[in-house]
Amino acid sequence: MLKIYNTLKRQKEEFIPLKEKEVSMYTCGPTVYDFFHIGNARSFINADFVRRYLEYSGYKVKFIMNLTDIDDKIIRRANAEDRSAESVATEYSKAFLEDIKHLNVKKATLYPKATHHMGEIIEMIEKLVQKGIAYATDDGVYYNVEKFPGYGKLSGKNTEDLQEGARVEVNELKQSPLDFALWKKAKPGEPFWPSPWGDGRPGWHIECSAMSCKHLGETFDIHTGGSDLVFPHHENEIAQSEAATGKPFVRYWMHYGFLNIDNEKMSKSLGNFKTARDMFSTYSAESIRFLFAQRHYTAPLDFTEQSIQSAATGLQRLQNLFERLTTLLSAKTNGETPELSFKDYEKAFSDAMDDDFNSPKAMGVLFDFVSEVNQALVKHESPSLQFVKKAHGFIKKTAGGVFGILKIQAKESGNPELEDKLIGLMLTLRTEMKLKKDFQTADLIRNELQKLGIVLQDSKDGTTFKKQ
Ligand code: AMP
Ligand code: ZN
Repeated sequence: MLKIYNTLKRQKEEFIPLKEKEVSMYTCGPTVYDFFHIGNARSFINADFVRRYLEYSGYKVKFIMNLTDIDDKIIRRANAEDRSAESVATEYSKAFLEDIKHLNVKKATLYPKATHHMGEIIEMIEKLVQKGIAYATDDGVYYNVEKFPGYGKLSGKNTEDLQEGARVEVNELKQSPLDFALWKKAKPGEPFWPSPWGDGRPGWHIECSAMSCKHLGETFDIHTGGSDLVFPHHENEIAQSEAATGKPFVRYWMHYGFLNIDNEKMSKSLGNFKTARDMFSTYSAESIRFLFAQRHYTAPLDFTEQSIQSAATGLQRLQNLFERLTTLLSAKTNGETPELSFKDYEKAFSDAMDDDFNSPKAMGVLFDFVSEVNQALVKHESPSLQFVKKAHGFIKKTAGGVFGILKIQAKESGNPELEDKLIGLMLTLRTEMKLKKDFQTADLIRNELQKLGIVLQDSKDGTTFKKQ
């Protein structure tokens, strides 16, 4: 039974999805104004572990990660570089997708963009205005926090303390300092979209409410993000969505601990700011993922040169065994079957992960398994094929499937350009064979490619291929 620590309830709860064996999950994605940093990477990879483990447990997961592609930071960069906000957002959206692919993060079901959802955003703001929860001013539309009795339920903050502590913002247009913007009227030179309250752009919080509602429904299962988002971002998402729909918004809220560097907050001014891209030339994606998996997702993680290096060394043991098992598998060894209870390891792995995704404990199970199999291989150099298959399968499913830390996957995702060129070459050879009336070889090429999931389609204009 899977249990999740729900920030909203401040306790671990049994996970019961709305629909049996299906999970709807939303994670706040990046604001695309720069390359993302290694701290962001931790949040994206933690979300990936959660999603992959749910899939391992037999759930079908609809996983949505938004891209905030219009925002003050994007506009600032665009102005500084004398180009449009759109070109900044397009460049860094592309870089984001490349970098998470490199990090072996599984593709989301969808990456919705704020600028493609203006209709839904405006509709939700209109609902809030009609219900008297939001109000228009000369500079935009604001959410009246006083009107939502549940405000503060996620972060555990109460509105009176918040009012007192609120930074005194110089904005006399707001009824209360806690009220937050749903729509911001455009200042000269800023990008804008038309709305009933004038040309402008949405606030950040409403984007996530509108996009999650559109793609996952008014109530959905899991919402995640870094712990910095609990307040105000997620608190505001709840206020907006629940006031607009009258229904509970999210059933399980999960928040990831922060990543610090050498015990310090990462920041440009401290000079310890590392983009994920910076790391790629020195460390493998698998080592980075392994380092993150060794720490529980709620705990802070201190990133040091030493910690990533020892992760790389530790991981090597697992990868060495996996490679050895792969070799034994193709050698089709046929010796004795060492005694080892696969069932116990499978259960221990699931028990650990079912306990609020306790990945450090699950890693412990995996490494106990590695030690035991290594010992078995000392005694039985060529064990039975059945044993090799099981041991190989267990590591592939857990280390590979759930944590994405087997090198083989980096190879599998490969070099698509080279792949396409090689397939093109095969097609040319096949055409040559057909011209020489060697249909047997031409068919052999077609059939062998099909076995690799590459389907050829002949037409009068030539042959094209599709990867399945
Ligand atoms: P942003 O682009 O700043 O909105 O951040 C994207 C995601 O990364 C959010 O889920 C943040 O909570 C998360 N995040 C930002 N900084 C860190 C950090 N130092 N450690 C872990 N997660 C972070
Ligand atoms: Zn969000």
